[in-house]
Amino acid sequence: MNGDGKPRAKARRRRACPICGKAAVEPHVPFCSRDCADLDLGLWFRGAYRIPAVEPPDEAVDAMTEDEGAGGAEPGEDEGGE
Ligand SMILES: [Zn+2]
Repeated sequence: MNGDGKPRAKARRRRACPICGKAAVEPHVPFCSRDCADLDLGLWFRGAYRIPAVEPPDEAVDAMTEDEGAGGAEPGEDEGGE
């Protein structure tokens, strides 16, 4: 039996920075540095601000909504109260 009861600390796999591919560093995880974190935020904002000035035809809208559906889904919080 192997009952020392000590929970084994899981070896955390180092994530790779999604921006540059370096190993992520703790205060900036999942990024390797603040630069990369800022860069990612910048990209995110640019995407958020990219609102089409001209409404595309219905077909295009349909395709777009399908494509973007996976993006910002909020977890449904159940406000049951008491
Ligand atoms: Zn990086």
